[in-house]
Amino acid sequence: MFVARTIAGYRVCTLEQSKDELQPLAKSGELMCAACHDEVRYWSQTDSVRPHFKHKSKENCLEDKYGENETIEHQNGKYLLYKHMKESYPESQVELEYRVKETQQRSDVMVIHPNGEKWAINFNAPQSLKTFGLRETIYITQLELKHFGY
Ligand SMILES: [Zn+2]
Repeated sequence: MFVARTIAGYRVCTLEQSKDELQPLAKSGELMCAACHDEVRYWSQTDSVRPHFKHKSKENCLEDKYGENETIEHQNGKYLLYKHMKESYPESQVELEYRVKETQQRSDVMVIHPNGEKWAINFNAPQSLKTFGLRETIYITQLELKHFGY
């Protein structure tokens, strides 16, 4: 998960805030999972994965379902979606991993427009992303073939 909560109840996000800022907080036990309130640690071990939070102990957390078994494709997709929405709707509030109080579910990205309209967007099925990539490759290949055919 990219988003955690401080003991004081503030949202923190590994994509928006630096390691220098978040790691000491996590180390001193001030950050917790927004769902189960268990302590989380800051994780930025490899270059291939964006910094994120992990539960300190593997408890049964609802968030696990969304957060910790996420593939890199899912995390990247979520991040790109978030960035895209932020750029497309600068007037609106765009949040990652936002809990919808009404449904008790977490949406990957939430867009709250100034007129009060809310969009809860979930980035689903990394499988389809791969399929899409494949289709795209085939499509490009076909274009190239056409091009060379002239
Ligand atoms: Zn949790």
